[in-house]
Amino acid sequence: MKSRRQWPGRVTLGYIAILSGAFAVAMIAGWTSLAEGMDGSAYDWIFKVHRSTPANASSVVLAFDEAALGQTGGMRNIRRTLAATLKRIASEAPSVVAIDIILSDKGDPLEDEELRSALSRTRNLVLASDVIAGTQTWEEPEPSFKATAAAVGHVHAAPDPVCRRLPLEVIAGRDRRWAMALEAYRLHSGAGAIEESLDTIVVGSTEVPARRETRRALYIRYGEGVPVASVSAAKLPPLQGKAVFIGVTPQSAARDRFMTPNGVMMSGVEIHAQAFETLSRRDFLSPASLSSVAAVCLALTIAAGCIFAFVSGWPAYLLGAVLLAVAHATPHVAWTNGIIFPYLAPLWAAWLSVFTAASWQYFVVRRQLMKSESDRARYQQAIHFVTHEMRSPLTAIQGSSELMGRYNLNDAKRKQMADMINAESKRLARMIQTFLDIERLTDGQMEIRSESFDAADVIQQCLQRAQPLAERKQIDLRLNDLEPSTLRGDRELMEYAVYNLLTNAVKYSPAETLVTVTAHRKDSFLHVSVRDQGIGMDEKELRSVFQKFYRTKKAEESGEAGTGIGLSIVEQIVHHHGGRMEVTSTPGKGSCFTMVLPLAPASKLVSP
Ligand code: ADP
Repeated sequence: MKSRRQWPGRVTLGYIAILSGAFAVAMIAGWTSLAEGMDGSAYDWIFKVHRSTPANASSVVLAFDEAALGQTGGMRNIRRTLAATLKRIASEAPSVVAIDIILSDKGDPLEDEELRSALSRTRNLVLASDVIAGTQTWEEPEPSFKATAAAVGHVHAAPDPVCRRLPLEVIAGRDRRWAMALEAYRLHSGAGAIEESLDTIVVGSTEVPARRETRRALYIRYGEGVPVASVSAAKLPPLQGKAVFIGVTPQSAARDRFMTPNGVMMSGVEIHAQAFETLSRRDFLSPASLSSVAAVCLALTIAAGCIFAFVSGWPAYLLGAVLLAVAHATPHVAWTNGIIFPYLAPLWAAWLSVFTAASWQYFVVRRQLMKSESDRARYQQAIHFVTHEMRSPLTAIQGSSELMGRYNLNDAKRKQMADMINAESKRLARMIQTFLDIERLTDGQMEIRSESFDAADVIQQCLQRAQPLAERKQIDLRLNDLEPSTLRGDRELMEYAVYNLLTNAVKYSPAETLVTVTAHRKDSFLHVSVRDQGIGMDEKELRSVFQKFYRTKKAEESGEAGTGIGLSIVEQIVHHHGGRMEVTSTPGKGSCFTMVLPLAPASKLVSP
């Protein structure tokens, strides 16, 4: 019984273990670079699904586009055109003018002077700087231009293949620069200095979620509301109170053009304007913390585990499908709350755990069903067998007692009848005892002694007991190769097992054949073999030979077959002693039954 009682506990532990494995795999897989790439694509997809077009942009992009550059003499003439543009927009009173062109070197003195004077008359001017590729040095505006600026911001390119984020902070050498968009926003909102904590940047009353460890990355909420006008346009959009971003946009001239989550290419200056809009709308997104991702994945795994542990059939599958839908919806719900939730980790956690739990339920339930089916079949077989086997002693008892009651028998006859009744009732009692024993042995209820005993002694005693049976059939019962060894366990049960193998060998062998017994040590085991030259068994029969009540056709035909439970008891006994049974057999040629039994510890030390 003991082992059966542990079974539900083991199953539960196994279930928890496979679900934990599913959770661990989902979490680990969620951190691979493959998952990162797929999470990025999922981000872009969610971005498009939740896209909104904000009204009333606070910024305008003035672009040196193909048309403007064509009309004004191209990049060679850019400083003159820039000066003219600044003069043109000064009267419109923009709140900030951010120029995404790095004016680092000296040009034509006249042109430079013209530009310098236009710059110095521009209120809240933000100039651009960038880190020179492969160095720790800033490419700065020329000092006399820099002196006219209210701030110098970086226009460093974002590293992702798709420009989802803008690093608000770039450090090179000893200098740290805030992004041009952030500087523009600071001046636009009239805030003082930018303050910072580990997780945020504070500009006036705006708290921007931007963690230091990510270079203060700001997720840009691209919208379509920012007007983009060509510098050369006769009529510009209204600029009053707006942040004006000036930059170069044609493919051939712009240094930076990136793919956005919306699936369109955008120039650097537009990206900065979009980052500015994100800041001024305070439309922030921040990535979910590791612990919250782990907690959601764990919750999904536990939910899947509970569904398939407590619900079965189609309701379980329906709930599983609901759980999968929840996992798919989680990143969307998080997004609407300004949180970027990874897509794959919860998805994998849900799919893996639902799949594992559903398979577990399918196989365990099926196994239990099969087990109860075979238990039922065995029980029926047992009942059938018992009624059949008990009939003959009962008939004998019934017949004898009837004769004794009906006829006036002489003393000798009466004694014979009484003896027969006595013998048959004892046989019945033995039969019942055997049944009870085997049931108790199977259930692990039977107490098994643990004592050291001499194996050779047991074998010899059994041989002696079996000798008369062998002689009756002129079978030569021979002992070969008996190595002295000590076993540990129940001597009586072991005797039962050995004797059973010997009587089987004699029963299922024709007259005048040979039965040999050997006992030799190998590693830390004793191999006790009984080999006969009897009827043998085919492979299919061999597979069933240790089942209760199993008898081969040939054995039944020979008239020697018994109850068919002896070998099942032998196997139980060997199993309880920590050993195993091995059988080889050829139909018509003979069989060899071997008990492989662990030697008692002390005996192992003695070399064979
Ligand atoms: P039984 O009381 O019928 O011998 P067992 O459980 O000891 O019951 O054996 C089960 C069946 O296995 C036998 O009925 C017989 O068909 C087969 N069997 C057992 N031992 C041998 C053997 N040495 N040679 C051939 N068949 C055997």
